[in-house]
Amino acid sequence: MISNKSLTIAVDFDGTIVEDAYPSIGEPKIFAFETLKKLENEGHRLILWTYRHGERLDAAVDFCRERGIKFYAVNQSFPEEEFDPKYSRKINADIFIDDRNVGGFYGWGEIYQELTNTKPNIPEQKKNKGLFSFLKKSS
Ligand SMILES: [Mg+2]
Repeated sequence: MISNKSLTIAVDFDGTIVEDAYPSIGEPKIFAFETLKKLENEGHRLILWTYRHGERLDAAVDFCRERGIKFYAVNQSFPEEEFDPKYSRKINADIFIDDRNVGGFYGWGEIYQELTNTKPNIPEQKKNKGLFSFLKKSS
């Protein structure tokens, strides 16, 4: 899908980078930060695009920074942009990654593969033991 072009990628936070636990911050979604880092390393610009503002927005930005992601811009198209209510807040991005996509959220593994043309190396998740596994113990 992507050639060598550097893209501006707007990424939602709640329900996309982390599990939706708004107003607190949920657990990071599997492979979210790995994918964002890879995209950043490949020269794409990441914009955090969220309905959060004020302290809750700062908390989200800090959360990502602590995990190695510093966004090019936050809730705006470029760092120096000033918010002008006369204009639409629709930002200028090539791609939006959002859990409200039509068809639902693909998951970061899929997104990684689509955007980087490489297979994600996702560590295998622990097998779910199943609801009734505890019954087997006693037998
Ligand atoms: Mg969301």
